[in-house]
Amino acid sequence: MSEKAVVSERGAVLLGDSVACDAFDAERPLRVVTHAHADHLVGLRRSLKSCDKVLMTRATRDLIGVVNGSLPLDAGSVQLLEYGEPFEYGGERVTLLKADHILGAAQVLVETSEGRRVGYTGDFRVDGTEPLLDCDTLVVEATYGSPWFKRAFKVDVRELLVSMVEKNLRQGAVYVFGYYGKLQEVMQILRRADVYVPFVMPERMFHVSKICEAHGMELGGLTLSSAQEGRSLLDEDLPCVAFYHMNTRKRVGLSSSRICVSGWEFRSPCRQIGEREHLVALSDHSDFCGLIEYVRRSMPKRVVTDNYRVSHGVTLAREISRRLGIPAVAMPC
Ligand SMILES: [Zn+2]
Repeated sequence: MSEKAVVSERGAVLLGDSVACDAFDAERPLRVVTHAHADHLVGLRRSLKSCDKVLMTRATRDLIGVVNGSLPLDAGSVQLLEYGEPFEYGGERVTLLKADHILGAAQVLVETSEGRRVGYTGDFRVDGTEPLLDCDTLVVEATYGSPWFKRAFKVDVRELLVSMVEKNLRQGAVYVFGYYGKLQEVMQILRRADVYVPFVMPERMFHVSKICEAHGMELGGLTLSSAQEGRSLLDEDLPCVAFYHMNTRKRVGLSSSRICVSGWEFRSPCRQIGEREHLVALSDHSDFCGLIEYVRRSMPKRVVTDNYRVSHGVTLAREISRRLGIPAVAMPC
């Protein structure tokens, strides 16, 4: 029997006979986009042109429209799906299930015409994600797939982030650096903790935030850094939180207090990395223990680890086999 779940050399997660997830594949009539991060949008322009359907959640479509405005997302090939809403194609059934990662993120389940079940987790945090059950083959993300990547912190990173922002606000503006999706989560954490100062941000961050609000996240008090109010808050170093993409970290807010939120921190929940700069270990991925925990709860017959997006797929496959007794391979390798 041919394998119904593989990861191609170009990073497409191929499920059943029809589906390619998160990268272009010339043979596959269906493309699934699990979420709006760039490493999952590989070749999307070509897929929009050549696929019968490109499946994604509405929130993912809206976010992609902002982070990559030139893609023709209004073309007829885009098919929006709710979580849990099945899509039938050539005897196969495709369903997107919620993944706790960024707004709109989905896991993918394909039920084949022979009654096999194959799934792909996409990126996820184990705590807020219902595992895909009874899969013949499950493809698992492997971002933190090595036992080195454990976050065994005793403290709540969210609470720590809030108290650090509150403390620094007494001195004026606080800059927070991170990626799209995660920064909107930070905004929501701060608002829920009753931090009511204005949130200042450049245009693209502002539009991403507006989309998160339109999909139910409670942010509020958003100000453009190019507008007069935002500009004077930052110029005069008044109490506000400025949200900037990680890529601008070396250029922006150099003389203010600064916080970077990153998943690539395992030693401590918070660490000083500059004169007025701290790193806070807020992640939107499972750590190694979370990946193992997901597979243990999901109990698939066989596992494929995604070895395209990061290089820890081989280690994760070995650890899944060793710890859980489930056959596992890394692809591509
Ligand atoms: Zn992601």
